[in-house]
Amino acid sequence: MNTKELIAAEKQTILGTYTRPEFVITHGKDVYLYDAEGREYLDFVSGIAVNAFGYSDSEAKNTLTEQSEKLWHCSNLYYTEPQVKLAQFLVNHTFADKLFFCNSGTEAMEAAIKFARKWASMTKGPDNHQILAFNRSFHGRTFGGLSATGQPKFWEHFGPMLEGFDFAEFNDIESVKNKITDKTCAVIVEPVQGEGGIYPANVEFLQQLKTLCDEHNTLLILDEIQCGFGRTGHFCAYENYGIQPDILTAAKPIAGGLPLGAVLLTDKIAEHIKPGDHGTTFGGGPIVTSVALNILERIAEPAFLESVRDKGSYLQERLTALQAEYPELIAVRSKGLMFGLEIQGSPQDLIKACTEQGLLICKTGGNAVRFLPPLIITQEQIDDGLNKFKLALDSLRG
Ligand code: PLP
Repeated sequence: MNTKELIAAEKQTILGTYTRPEFVITHGKDVYLYDAEGREYLDFVSGIAVNAFGYSDSEAKNTLTEQSEKLWHCSNLYYTEPQVKLAQFLVNHTFADKLFFCNSGTEAMEAAIKFARKWASMTKGPDNHQILAFNRSFHGRTFGGLSATGQPKFWEHFGPMLEGFDFAEFNDIESVKNKITDKTCAVIVEPVQGEGGIYPANVEFLQQLKTLCDEHNTLLILDEIQCGFGRTGHFCAYENYGIQPDILTAAKPIAGGLPLGAVLLTDKIAEHIKPGDHGTTFGGGPIVTSVALNILERIAEPAFLESVRDKGSYLQERLTALQAEYPELIAVRSKGLMFGLEIQGSPQDLIKACTEQGLLICKTGGNAVRFLPPLIITQEQIDDGLNKFKLALDSLRG
């Protein structure tokens, strides 16, 4: 099928939940993607914060091949070593005492909400099921994740949402004080709001939030699905804030592009979760967990994380400098290699203009675009991306 035929067949057969640009990606190498017409794109999207090691990561491929020769899928009815090794690694490198593996971010949120509600039901009583989340947040597309998502546009026509969810203002501790009660079972927050527009939490805000949760005997759930595992220049994003959560949800980069989600939690919650309370057919299978261990071992290397912080500072400096030249860049928000650029004009037009220059970027909330380059990107590739970005901005000026 050529590009035209494939796009026509897609429109005929695939449910229209995405508006895709008019090219077909055929392969990737390093931090570049290639389309069926042979065009090369520098990738500042990384599969939406997934492909930390780009597109030709031989270590992950070798791990996958080796594991696939040993054991493919065999269900969670049995013990398997890759899952346990990954859990041990995460317990050793984070606040967590226990892990639950699933397949995606939204499934991790579902599980986290269930575990928090069970903990509250067992320790505070069954009517203590209230969840407090934040306006502008995003936590997934299933009913738990969606009910916790503080953007009503995602609820439209799908109501009613689950009962017991309320929303406070992000980075506004007074707003949380007005909403939190002893009946609140958990507060859910992204350390960096991703889909909402790349808004990093203030250090003071997250620290005060943790204290408030402790005062009300409420669990703090951090959604690090987009901002976790190296993206902010620390293994976990909470390390930027000097706090620890009770529960953390993770997914996107964890297995380098294979579907895996995880809920990290402490023993105080884990002790209330019993066989049969939750489960999954595919979650934490041997192939994805062996790849995830390989990926996370490399992300956790201090020198690797330092390089992410350095490249993030460099890109932030360059973008700030660019604002003087291009006042249509209204604001640049970032943490590590996670960037939100508030712009004057249409994000869609800017994304299209970047594509024409051979640079892939994506949209985020508000009037903003996102840069989420692979974590292995080099300074030269960042420079190349910025040159392409400038050409795109120029082309929009006409
Ligand atoms: N939470 C956050 C912060 C996300 O960014 C996303 C996805 O973008 C999700 C949850 C849902 O993850 P998934 O798409 O893997 O279900």
